[in-house]
Amino acid sequence: MKYLLVFGLLCIVSLMACSNSINKETVLSMNNDYFEDTLKKRKSMEEWKKQLTEEEFRITRQKGTERAFTGKYWNHKDNGVYVCTCCGTELFNSKTKFDSGTGWPSFYDVIDKKNVGEIVDKTLGMIRTEVVCKKCDAHLGHVFDDGPKPTGLRYCVNSASLKFNKK
Ligand SMILES: [Zn+2]
Repeated sequence: MKYLLVFGLLCIVSLMACSNSINKETVLSMNNDYFEDTLKKRKSMEEWKKQLTEEEFRITRQKGTERAFTGKYWNHKDNGVYVCTCCGTELFNSKTKFDSGTGWPSFYDVIDKKNVGEIVDKTLGMIRTEVVCKKCDAHLGHVFDDGPKPTGLRYCVNSASLKFNKK
């Protein structure tokens, strides 16, 4: 009986220790993500200006648009992943890239909805949906509902908002 009691106590203690360490790790990683997010978002315009080229700054930080057929990726066909030029977050996979004929890199899907935000854009007398990098708020382009299957979406993105990682 005594042994049983000791065994039982040991079980409870080890269980507590186990759940404790999981909690600590989870909280720690959550804090790290939060910290990183905050750090990225807190970059000042001056800091972005130093990090980016003039064209990248104008497009990602001032919601500009590059001229059609001038960017480095509108006709780019390699296999890989397109990431945010400002913070490196994975945005689009080359598997979902298609030739839209617009002169801008076009994709029918994103890698992860968690990485790409949508904002209603009422400039230029139109109602459009702007797409941004959720991690650093970089302007990417717009999304339209005239894309190919399976999503029917067309993410029309500036090359200057992207960097390509070959796979
Ligand atoms: Zn970003």
